[in-house]
Amino acid sequence: FMKISYKGKNRDELYEMTETFNRMMERLEESFWNQQQFVSDASHELNTTLMIIEGYSNMLRRWGAHDKKVQEEAVKSIYEETKRMRIMTQQLLNLASSQQGGQFTPESVNLIQTCKLVIAHFSQLSTRKIILHSKEKDNVIQADHSKIKQLLIILLDNALKYSTAPVELHLTKQEEYVQFIIKDYGIGIPQGEVKHVFERFYRIDSSRHRKTGGTGLGLPIAKSIVEEHHGEIRIESHEGAGTEVIVKLPTALSIRNT
Ligand code: ADP
Repeated sequence: FMKISYKGKNRDELYEMTETFNRMMERLEESFWNQQQFVSDASHELNTTLMIIEGYSNMLRRWGAHDKKVQEEAVKSIYEETKRMRIMTQQLLNLASSQQGGQFTPESVNLIQTCKLVIAHFSQLSTRKIILHSKEKDNVIQADHSKIKQLLIILLDNALKYSTAPVELHLTKQEEYVQFIIKDYGIGIPQGEVKHVFERFYRIDSSRHRKTGGTGLGLPIAKSIVEEHHGEIRIESHEGAGTEVIVKLPTALSIRNT
């Protein structure tokens, strides 16, 4: 905490100091309530998943031995919910670590190589195409390599989840920034919802979401990674036409404002 000395201050200075102190307290209070809300949302999400698993296990225990259909449905759901819960707990840990601003280790990251690596990762998992568009040969920035990889995985995974056509990844370099555009021609995001998708656990339609197995934590993690790198992230989307996620990252540490 800041030590405030009131000695020898005139009225304006005292007023200014009180204002600063009040603003600090407001921010602390806000962060406390955000934290409370986060813990409560996370507990709720994990609890719901556990209740589903409990329900299906019970079904399996009572009728599973005699009814093949019940057995198949229960085992499948338990598997999917457990997987979702594992992803969610991992994401919660990631979110906690990047919001503490903790383990940031800047290194030279060749973005073309990183993009190719991530695209190769997806090509092992599915036959869906990701097309890389980039003119520059050399695209090195100072960043945390594993976090940039994670950022691209989140955004490309969403683009693939919510579309069926090939996904485009555009990479361009400007003076002091690089820009990624992850573009899909999928279902898009309804007009009024774009501003909410960066909120933790926010999903547009929960039934649609459960089918695609999302958690509502992907975009908040993406945002906190971008903010850790002092970049910007925004979404342009049209329902039924597709989505563009635009990420700007500074190339060098020197132009960051910390
Ligand atoms: P999720 O794990 O549910 O995908 P995210 O935080 O990554 O969570 O995204 C929040 C919500 O925003 C998603 O549930 C989805 O409804 C919407 N969304 C995200 N990316 C896209 C996209 N490329 N196209 C359409 N909707 C999207």
